[in-house]
Amino acid sequence: MLKQDCLLCKILGLLAIAGALNWGAVGIFKFDVIAGIYGEMTTVSRAVYVLIGFSGLAVLAGMIIKCPKCKQD
Ligand SMILES: [Zn+2]
Repeated sequence: MLKQDCLLCKILGLLAIAGALNWGAVGIFKFDVIAGIYGEMTTVSRAVYVLIGFSGLAVLAGMIIKCPKCKQD
């Protein structure tokens, strides 16, 4: 899936994966990696959460409609 994607799709995909792994860490270790790095509910950590949320939406959209840049390659 990631191999033939364009750079933007790769970044969005990796961000979504990072978010999923963070939730895994929250579930298993009760540790929020993003909050650990950027502080709890700081502007930066919230921006990262928003970015991950947006990436999730983008990945979801990518399942329905193919990104025009990926089509070119
Ligand atoms: Zn793409």
